[in-house]
Amino acid sequence: MKTLIVGAGLAGLVCARELQAAGDEVSLIDKGRGYGGRLSSRRREGLSFDHGAPELHLRPEDLAETDVLAEWRPEGGPARLVATPRQNELLKHLGAGLAVEHGARALAVAGRPGEWWVRTDQGERGPAERVVVAVPAPQAVPLLAQAAPQLSERVAQASYAPCWTLLYAPAADAEVPAWERHEPDSGPLSLVIAEQSKPGRGPEPRYVAHATTEWARAHLEDSADEVQAALLAALAEVWGGALPEPRYAAAHRWRYARVAQPLGEPCLNVPER
Ligand SMILES: Cc1cc2nc3c(=O)[nH]c(=O)nc-3n(C[C@H](O)[C@H](O)[C@H](O)COP(=O)(O)OP(=O)(O)OC[C@H]3O[C@@H](n4cnc5c(N)ncnc54)[C@H](O)[C@@H]3O)c2cc1C
Repeated sequence: MKTLIVGAGLAGLVCARELQAAGDEVSLIDKGRGYGGRLSSRRREGLSFDHGAPELHLRPEDLAETDVLAEWRPEGGPARLVATPRQNELLKHLGAGLAVEHGARALAVAGRPGEWWVRTDQGERGPAERVVVAVPAPQAVPLLAQAAPQLSERVAQASYAPCWTLLYAPAADAEVPAWERHEPDSGPLSLVIAEQSKPGRGPEPRYVAHATTEWARAHLEDSADEVQAALLAALAEVWGGALPEPRYAAAHRWRYARVAQPLGEPCLNVPER
């Protein structure tokens, strides 16, 4: 069966591999310029930051790609699973051998059973006998509104929690705290990770801090500069003193970071009509 998948994040890629292994002719489109989605990593000043999901809640046996997965044992805490040398490396491995088109934003699914098309900002893609939409639910709603209105309404019932993440690197010779993974119990931050403590990242000190959902909701429409200043101040509290002058700092908004209200089903299916 010819299958077109919208979204080449972890969900879309795992789905593509399963369908390809079952004999489907699969292609994927993704609006991003490269692999990442919510498992994105950013490289700046020669440093990499995992500014999306910081850890993987998978068992290594869930995926065959164990050579890109490694255990991270932050000081004083349980072992966690990460991809090396960056989180988005997992997606690159999953995408190898698949037909993935990056830089194409889907605008709408159209067509009829047996002959589906996806309208994108790069032109139409298809026809396909099956379309899989593997993007955060609020972004799936407009894509499905015309071709599958009932499905679109159902998908609209899921809600997401936003997150602001702060990326911060002090000078290479700055004094840094001893902790490697810290969960503040009050204030705007819920999690701070010393990226250099993860396997395969290199020793240069750099941090990714996550705002709490409540803080992110309250500051969702603030500018990135305002958020960066506020979260640097919050990080200084956690640090226990003035932060060393940043070599690099940025704030990134995730409007749909995590599912807050799930639909209770891993996947919705519209049978052939
Ligand atoms: C800050 C942060 C922290 C997180 N923490 C955790 C955690 O602790 N535990 C956990 O289990 N999960 C966490 N997550 C969520 C986790 O990252 C995702 O569940 C996981 O990466 C799977 O994502 P996905 O494939 O469903 O969606 P995504 O990774 O969002 O992939 C969707 C893809 O679709 C593409 N796309 C979207 N719209 C379109 C369109 N119109 N046309 C074409 N392409 C489109 C996007 O570019 C993207 O690549 C976190 C996420 C963030 C951002």
